[in-house]
Amino acid sequence: MEWCESMPKVELHAHLNGSIRDSTLLELARDLGEKGVLVFSDFEHVILKSDRSLVEVFKLFDLIHMVTTDHTTITRITREVVEDFAYENVVYIELRTTPKKNKSIGMSKRSYMEAVVEGLKSINSVDVAFMPHDVDSRSSLNSMSIDNTNNVIPRKRIYVRLLLSIDRRETTEDAMETVKLALELKDVGVVGIDLSGNPIVGEWTTFWPALQFAKENGLAITLHCGEVPNPKEIQAMLDFWPQRIGHACFFEGEDWEKLKRLKIPVEICLTSNIRTNSISSLDVHHFVDLYKANHPLVICTDDFGVFSTSVSKEYSLAASAFGLGKKEIFQLARDAIEFIFADDEIKKILKQAFDSFVPNLA
Ligand code: 5GP
Repeated sequence: MEWCESMPKVELHAHLNGSIRDSTLLELARDLGEKGVLVFSDFEHVILKSDRSLVEVFKLFDLIHMVTTDHTTITRITREVVEDFAYENVVYIELRTTPKKNKSIGMSKRSYMEAVVEGLKSINSVDVAFMPHDVDSRSSLNSMSIDNTNNVIPRKRIYVRLLLSIDRRETTEDAMETVKLALELKDVGVVGIDLSGNPIVGEWTTFWPALQFAKENGLAITLHCGEVPNPKEIQAMLDFWPQRIGHACFFEGEDWEKLKRLKIPVEICLTSNIRTNSISSLDVHHFVDLYKANHPLVICTDDFGVFSTSVSKEYSLAASAFGLGKKEIFQLARDAIEFIFADDEIKKILKQAFDSFVPNLA
């Protein structure tokens, strides 16, 4: 585990509101409890429960969204989430979030995203590079700074890109609004669109026009796909040929065949799949078959707050569950660079960072 923590890592499937520190969530809920907006003891019980079904997870998200409604909180959780990833040596993250509207507090999808960007700007405990032009291929990922007693201390650096999520409860117009916003926010590091939200809600045909528009306008697409048995939707999603998919828990023969033929990378979230009972145990997880087939894979957290995990823990889990050694784990982590949505310049920097870690593999 310690070794997995020191290794550089890439995180490509992390939802902002699912990655909040428990301490922050409890603090926010306690405040709202005191104001009489919610009953704190009910909230506390739900947060501290360790395993919940997929249905319960979405109930929890509704609760989380009750305490993270305002701009200030969105800014705070963005800052903390990125710091937490950087502290465990994640060197590149694509953080996804659903832009939300809340008329009563003057929140629009745009102002929600401005609060997220404000969060990125407000980080000073680590170096954060999120603007597309904020790339310096000469710099290493650990820069130096001088503390107030003149000691030189290494500073962690993390590259951040954003994905805007479309929630499956949304209409075609809502989805289109999100895609247009993503296009306008390319200059603050938005690189793609995600389709997520409760998989038993909504129809693929509702989101298709917005996703197609996004694709035609150069945004990369990742879809939550096969989280529940829905063969028709899985086939339609694969035919759309997204750049990546998340989960793939309920794929059948022809789905695997198409996925492998199209070589669509899969974002694997082990703890999430087990906790939500989407997969009964790790020995039957599709990771094994895809890994053996040399299919593009990336290990991710999904929601590190909700599932009490971290990227390091997920790699550690993969190592112990699937019998992978340091070299295989390192290769798996390094291969993820190929599936990021940012440009080749960033890929080059990330490869340098990984390669400078190689001496630690012995
Ligand atoms: P947010 O987009 O509000 O920052 O992050 C939380 C949201 O991400 C949830 O409300 C849900 O729409 C989506 N989400 C988080 N985890 C999962 C997951 O495991 N599956 C799906 N389909 N959606 C998820």
